[in-house]
Amino acid sequence: MAFDSHIRSYEAGRVIFSEGEPGEAAYIIDQGKVELSALINGEQVVIAHLKKGEMFGEMSLIDDQLRSATAIAKTPARLIVVPRKYIREKIDLSDNLVSMSLRVVLERYREMRIRLEHVLAGKELDHARRYYQQETSAGVHAEEARLAAERLQAENNLREALEENQLELFYQPIINLSENRVAGCESLIRWRHPKRGLVSPGEFIGLAEETGLIVPIGLWILEEACRAQKRFATIDSDLYVSINLSGRQFEADITDELEKILNETDVDRKRIKLEITESLLMANPLQVAEILYTFKGFGVDIAIDDFGTGYSSFSYLHRFPIDVLKIDQSFVFTMRDNPKSLEIVRTLCTLAKALGMSVIAEGIEDPADVKILRDFSADFGQGFYFSKPMPEAEFTAFLGSYGSG
Ligand code: C2E
Ligand code: CA
Ligand code: CA
Repeated sequence: MAFDSHIRSYEAGRVIFSEGEPGEAAYIIDQGKVELSALINGEQVVIAHLKKGEMFGEMSLIDDQLRSATAIAKTPARLIVVPRKYIREKIDLSDNLVSMSLRVVLERYREMRIRLEHVLAGKELDHARRYYQQETSAGVHAEEARLAAERLQAENNLREALEENQLELFYQPIINLSENRVAGCESLIRWRHPKRGLVSPGEFIGLAEETGLIVPIGLWILEEACRAQKRFATIDSDLYVSINLSGRQFEADITDELEKILNETDVDRKRIKLEITESLLMANPLQVAEILYTFKGFGVDIAIDDFGTGYSSFSYLHRFPIDVLKIDQSFVFTMRDNPKSLEIVRTLCTLAKALGMSVIAEGIEDPADVKILRDFSADFGQGFYFSKPMPEAEFTAFLGSYGSG
C-alpha cells in the first residue's frame, strides 16, 4: 500500500480520536506533537507525549476494543494513517504465536490499568470481577492456544525429523522416450515417521516453508541428492538427478551454500538439474532470473516444474536460462479424453523445441500416453506407468532391470 495517499493534517488542539470510540486506524507521526490522555477516576490524565516517528492508536485495532485514550494534536500535526484493514491483514498473516502474544500483552495491559485505577482510588480490588475476567478471557483464547500449541508441536517434530535422520529421498525414474531407457530421476522427499510411518511431502512441505525450516531441510536435500548422483554414477555415469527447490530457498539466497555443496560432494554438475516451479519464476522474475544465471554458472541445469499452470507469458521464457520444461501432470492425465489438454501438450512440446529446451512429460500412467508423447517428440517421460518414486535400493535395482525384462 502506498502510505502517501494516507496523510492527514490536524491543527493544534484538534481531537484525533476520543476515548470510547471504535478504532478505525492507527497513526504514525510525520510532523508535530500529539498528546494522549485518559479519564482515570473522573479526571483527564495525560498518559503520553508523542513526537515524530512514534505510533499510536494501534491497540484497539489489535484486540477490537474501544479506544482507551483520547489523542489530541498539541502542535500542527501531519500523520500517516495506517488503516485498520492493513494492520488486521498483517496480524492475520503472522504466525499465530505472534498474534496471540500481541493480544495477551494488550489484555494484561488493560487489566493492569483497571487495577491501577482501583488502587489510585483507594478501593479494594474486586476479586470476583477479576476472577470472572480471567475466566472469560481464558475461554476466548482456548482454541487459539490449542492451535498455536499444535503448530509448535508440529514444527518441533519436523525439526527433530531433520536432526534424527527421519527424512529420506525417494527417486522416481525419468525415461528417455525414444530410446526407452532410464535417463535420470527426480528426488522426492519422504518423512519416515517413527509412529506414523511414511509421510508424503504434501503433508509437511507447506509447514516447512511457513516456518522457514525448508531452508535447512532444502540444504540437506541438495547434499543428499548430490551424494546419491555419485552413487548412481557407478551404475550409469550419464544418469541425472533432478532436485526440487522451493521459493523460500530463493528468498534465503542459497547460492553460497549450493556452491559449497557442489564442491564438497564433487558431483558431476552436468548431471544435476534444479527444478523450480513456473509460479515461483513468475512471482519474482527479475530476482529469480539473476539467481538462476548464477546457478547456471555453477554448471547445473535448470528445469521448470509444473509448466502450464503458472500463467507465464511465453514471450518471457527466453529471458530465463531454462534447459528443461516439465509439462504439468494435469494436462498429461487428461490429454486422452480432453482435446484441449492434448493440444496444450502438443503446443508445449513444440514451444520447448523452438526455444532449445528439452521436455519432460509428468504423470504418465498409461501406455497410450507414451505413444502420444512419442508422436509429439517429447524427450522424456515420468509417471506411475514406469514407476512410482522408490527408496534408493529399489531404484538402483530398477536401473539394473529396466528395459532388460
Ligand atoms: P512435484 O515436484 O510436481 O513432484 C511430482 C509428484 O507427482 C510426486 O508427488 C510424484 O510422486 C507424483 N507423481 C509422479 N508421477 C505420477 C503419476 O503418474 N500419477 C500421479 N498421480 N502422481 C505422480 P510427491 O512425491 O508426493 O511430491 C509432491 C510435491 O511435493 C512435489 O510435486 C513437490 O512440489 C513437493 N516436493 C517433493 N519433494 C520435494 C523436495 O525434495 N523439495 C521440495 N522443495 N519440494 C518437494
Ligand atoms: Ca518436481
Ligand atoms: Ca511437477
